[in-house]
Amino acid sequence: MSIKALKGFKDILPDEVGLWQFIEQTARDIFHRYGFEEIKVPILEKTELFVRTIGESTDIVEKEMYTFADRNGSSVTMRPEGTAPVIRSYIENGLYVRGSVQRLYTIGPMFRHERPQKGRLRQFHQMSVETLGSNSARIDTEVMAMAWQVLQEIGLQASMEINSLGCPACRPSFKEALLEFLQLRLESLCEDCRRRSSSNPLRVLDCKSEHCQAEYATAPAIIDHLCTACSDHFAEVRQTLDLLDVPYAVNAKMVRGLDYYTRTTFELITTELGAQGAIGAGGRYDGLVQQLGGPEVPGIGFAMGMERLVMLLGQKQKVAAGAAPDLFLVTLGEAASEKGFVLLQMLRSKGLRVMMDHEGRSLKNQMKQADKCNAGFALILGDNELAKREVVLKDMYSGEQKLVDLPSAFADWAAAIREKIRQQ
Ligand code: ATP
Ligand code: MG
Repeated sequence: MSIKALKGFKDILPDEVGLWQFIEQTARDIFHRYGFEEIKVPILEKTELFVRTIGESTDIVEKEMYTFADRNGSSVTMRPEGTAPVIRSYIENGLYVRGSVQRLYTIGPMFRHERPQKGRLRQFHQMSVETLGSNSARIDTEVMAMAWQVLQEIGLQASMEINSLGCPACRPSFKEALLEFLQLRLESLCEDCRRRSSSNPLRVLDCKSEHCQAEYATAPAIIDHLCTACSDHFAEVRQTLDLLDVPYAVNAKMVRGLDYYTRTTFELITTELGAQGAIGAGGRYDGLVQQLGGPEVPGIGFAMGMERLVMLLGQKQKVAAGAAPDLFLVTLGEAASEKGFVLLQMLRSKGLRVMMDHEGRSLKNQMKQADKCNAGFALILGDNELAKREVVLKDMYSGEQKLVDLPSAFADWAAAIREKIRQQ
């Protein structure tokens, strides 16, 4: 019996990797243009980190975390998202002393024990971006403009919805209004919503049940309860988005599935993936750093789901994984094979992508291999040619063959071959 991967865990095979690399490289390039630096944080953290930040009565913490006791009996969790670990690291390593505003991103796997389906996995990957240290609405706009630019440059259509979730000053009045609304229809809500209406009423708006969502169509909107400061901030976010021509729609019903969000929140949505239409989401988390024991530093960030981007892009185009060899070394005879093996190493050190056969196959078969791996050139090296310091260089696209004289010192061969290839 062969061993299979775990349910919801997926291999990313060589044929798909080209798309992954293209998306990742495009995003990295954009992040760098916007002044972001990469940070790499652990996959495993203390469970408490996520419970305290994401919130006890969220789907992630209630149902989805990979939490277990390690060998010492400490409760650890495979990270379900990237923000909490990055903030933990920011505080632990005192990154705030590097400058008042830090722009950080991280790319890697996240883990959530969800029901696997198309576009929903138990191990998935996110590109996660955080800015720490600015209250300015322009930062919100920069972050959203950057997310938007990533989609533009990888060539995907999406729409952006934004909302404001207010702050600890204005949320209580909204909570009260919402609670009043919920109390009138408690009977008709799902079990989760009934429970959450007392523990964390805002959470109910995030319910996945269609029936509950229909009930909430007439629910009060947080946007009507914002304090002056939050309302002004949100107005400025919209103005600056307009200024940069970043398209968006206000969705007053949007709350996010994590408790730490404040003020601006946003989602990037596509209609091409059915129910798994959210390709990225984010928002402000002004109290989070302090809540984790750090200084009073506001923040805003977002995460994009790689699998969904790959799926969308894969429907449109194929991106070649890796690159074909520049050269395939074809050898004839034992002496040539040994010399060729050394030459292979020297050519690679000179920066060329080179392959050769190690199975002692025929000339015809080696040429076939050169063709199959899409090598740009084949270099044919036989015992006779070796003695005369000559090789045949075949351009695999045009089929043209040339006899190439090599320098007297073997040590200079690789450079000479590279030069010849460059000239073609
Ligand atoms: P959803 O509503 O689809 O469950 P979410 O609100 O849980 O999304 P976030 O926690 O905001 O998602 O994560 C940001 C992005 O990460 C999502 O927009 C999505 O692209 C991706 N994502 C989240 N969960 C998964 C998953 N289980 N499998 C694949 N991608 C995911
Ligand atoms: Mg989810």
